[in-house]
Amino acid sequence: MKNKKFIYQFKEGKSEGNIQMKDLLGGKGANLAEMANIGVPVPPGFIITTEVCNYFYQHKGKLPEKFEGQFKQAIEKLERITAKKFGDINNPLLLSVRSGAKVSMPGMMDTVLNLGLNDKTVIGLAKKTNNPRFVHDAYRRFIQMFGDVVLGLEKKDFENILGKTKEKLGIKLDVDLKVEDLKNIISKYKELIRKKIGRSFPQDAFKQLEMSRDAVFESWNIPRAITYRKLNNIPDDLGTAVNVQVMVFGNMGKNSATGVGFTRNPANGKKEFYGEFLINAQGEDVVAGIRTPLPITDLRKEMPKVYKQLRKITGRLEKHYRDVQDFEFTIEERKLYMLQTRTGKRTAQAAIRIAVDMVEEKLITKKEALMRIEPQQINQLLHPVINPKAKLEIIATGLPASPGAAVGRVVFTAEKAVLLGEKKKKVVLVRNETCPDDIEGMHMAQGVLTVHGGMTSHAAVVARGMGKCCVAGCEEIKIDEKKKRFSVNDVVIKEGDWVTLNGSNGNVILGKVPTIEPSLTGDFNIFIKWADKIRKLGVRANADIPQDAKIARQFGAEGIGLCRTEHMFFEKERLPFVQQMILADDEVSRRKALVKLLPFQKEDFKGLFREMKGCSVTIRTLDPPLHEFLPKTKKEAKALSKKINIPENKIWAKSQELHEFNPMLGHRGCRLGITYPEITEMQVKAVISAACELLKKEKIKVVPEIMIPLVGHINEFKNQKKVVERIADETMKKYRVKIKYLIGTMIEIPRAVVTADEIAAEADFFSFGTNDLTQMGMGFSRDDAGKFIRTYLERKIFKADPFQTLDKEGIGQLIVLGIQKGRKTKKDLKIGICGEHGGDPESIKFCHQVGMNYVSCSPYRVPIARLAAAQAVIETEFT
Ligand code: PEP
Ligand code: MG
Repeated sequence: MKNKKFIYQFKEGKSEGNIQMKDLLGGKGANLAEMANIGVPVPPGFIITTEVCNYFYQHKGKLPEKFEGQFKQAIEKLERITAKKFGDINNPLLLSVRSGAKVSMPGMMDTVLNLGLNDKTVIGLAKKTNNPRFVHDAYRRFIQMFGDVVLGLEKKDFENILGKTKEKLGIKLDVDLKVEDLKNIISKYKELIRKKIGRSFPQDAFKQLEMSRDAVFESWNIPRAITYRKLNNIPDDLGTAVNVQVMVFGNMGKNSATGVGFTRNPANGKKEFYGEFLINAQGEDVVAGIRTPLPITDLRKEMPKVYKQLRKITGRLEKHYRDVQDFEFTIEERKLYMLQTRTGKRTAQAAIRIAVDMVEEKLITKKEALMRIEPQQINQLLHPVINPKAKLEIIATGLPASPGAAVGRVVFTAEKAVLLGEKKKKVVLVRNETCPDDIEGMHMAQGVLTVHGGMTSHAAVVARGMGKCCVAGCEEIKIDEKKKRFSVNDVVIKEGDWVTLNGSNGNVILGKVPTIEPSLTGDFNIFIKWADKIRKLGVRANADIPQDAKIARQFGAEGIGLCRTEHMFFEKERLPFVQQMILADDEVSRRKALVKLLPFQKEDFKGLFREMKGCSVTIRTLDPPLHEFLPKTKKEAKALSKKINIPENKIWAKSQELHEFNPMLGHRGCRLGITYPEITEMQVKAVISAACELLKKEKIKVVPEIMIPLVGHINEFKNQKKVVERIADETMKKYRVKIKYLIGTMIEIPRAVVTADEIAAEADFFSFGTNDLTQMGMGFSRDDAGKFIRTYLERKIFKADPFQTLDKEGIGQLIVLGIQKGRKTKKDLKIGICGEHGGDPESIKFCHQVGMNYVSCSPYRVPIARLAAAQAVIETEFT
């Protein structure tokens, strides 16, 4: 650290730093340096590097050895540039001190303005400027900010004094305070400080500066900054830079002003100058909301020359950075200064429009445009979202399992959800966890909130499939089903109360929050077609019913990568036949029940094939353990007994018999088809008949891909393949047509990976079931992992939830091995993924890199996958 440069100086036209130095100078600092370099008017200043901040933390508040000297020199330089002196009574130099990390953390850390004022400089400056009101206003503000930021006093105590004085004087606005009033407030402020900390407000300018600098360092670790970093995945060890700049004043009178703006509209992306300003004010007044700022276009009337200059400079900045700029400026006696510029944060809608416009303007290339949008951001375009202007009372936070917003009255059972849903009432279903029985209730609800379960819990998977908002694993809330209410801390929400869920960030919000409807605009279509041209991965959807397939097509799916046929079994009309099939004593009666299911399945498949218009459709044979279809309580058994005319005790006994200690590792997947081949037979018959009928009667050609789940041993696959081939042959013979079909397998058991070369000899395709592969590879249940994954994330044991983002180093390597082995046997083996990771951008990039042919995800994630797949190509090109 000895000979290190700790401080970087800048002034208009010249700077020691530049935009590439964000790590060292922070975002704000690097941008100020860059603006200075290109000749934008910025108040001169210097930046203390992030390394100093990190040293400060590593050495318990101490600064590096040579720092002090460089710091003094930097101030002297500013004194020379401005011909003022820091702390001088007659001609004082005033400074601002601002934080600025590498990544922008708006409003999270601290700022001190008007630094250098004290009881003496205030008099000198009043004389020099001949504007005592402005000087006392600045002093009043300085003491308040210093008291709050540096001395840690309550802001509201200062505001109380200010408010009470205005009330007594009968005035509303700060600008109406006279010099005497301000003096009065200042002395009350000072008294407050003395009383609260037992010391006086520091009068020495250097002391003020040192204390403010250290307070900015310390603000890196205040709770709200820590939380912000956690929420936005910003590392804790970046540290903040400190920007010290010569003060310029927007509060010098009618010819001064301050404002903020965007070079384009950040809400909708329109190319229009956007922003607001206040005459005779300092920056904090614009955001404080006491005085209503004026639209920036009004500046044209007030100060036409300055307005023109501001347009010119900001236009230049946008061109220079080739992106929308969010800027801050101050006008001091009609002279314009830029205080900050940074990439403007924008809604997804705006981001798409801006990207498309900028390509048209030849400002950026199509590839750059594609890299500008975070795939996850597209979520915002596909679901209703919470109105960004709404005031929120957040009561709890769970996992953001399925995006969008849901507003409804709380219900605790699926039946109630159906009952009210049928009456067109809006409900939010709140459950400890959901099970397949809840599906209709989930369908009717606006959104689903569960206490337990992770990102691949039943609630999460089904809700995403439905495109329904879901907050899962919200362990903070406690449900009291008997009393029909849930509580979180001391807030109690009863059945019928309104709540709002934000499935994009996991927030549970009290009351009815306004939402806005999204739309896929023309710009979006232009944009996503660029992605389609570039990507190499195919994008399919996981869809179980024709309605889902239709949505998937609208979102651009090129086929169905997974149809979980069991979801067709849960519908009201069919469930009794499924239950009869399970309860059958022998094969004959089992076949009887299956015959009744056949027409339903066939119609479903026809519906799917029609919607997919000739694209591939992968249909998986029955996967879940059978007990999922049977009653869980004696009461339910009694009700079912009446419905299907089978004795209650027989139903209950069967339920008990099928009970498994670990159903996920039990009698499920191909094990069902092996023990009850008639189930596979019925399903294959339905698939092949549907394809034959469509070809014969509607001239629709489909190539069904029949997929066997949970294969671990080649003989399991061979067994099921035989059944499929026999039934397919018989069925085609019956229809007297020949259709092409494929037989492939899920690769979701580690043993299947290791023996993938053997399996590939028999299978036409592989589809990685990364939900089960993660579960079995990691050795923890996908339904129970929610209990500890959060702790794992907090303690940094895992970087991400492995059920959400593929664990590349572990489970990912199983995939690599499976692909290698599979393609060693069959060079062109078609390989895809249909676990939840198929819709996760980071995992999709991995799928591209390891050479998969396609990804398959829930319909609402299809556009996200299309973009992520294109980004994977672009990123690989450049690395
Ligand atoms: C999987 O295991 O990844 C998969 C897609 O199947 P399911 O989630 O239905 O078990
Ligand atoms: Mg599976």
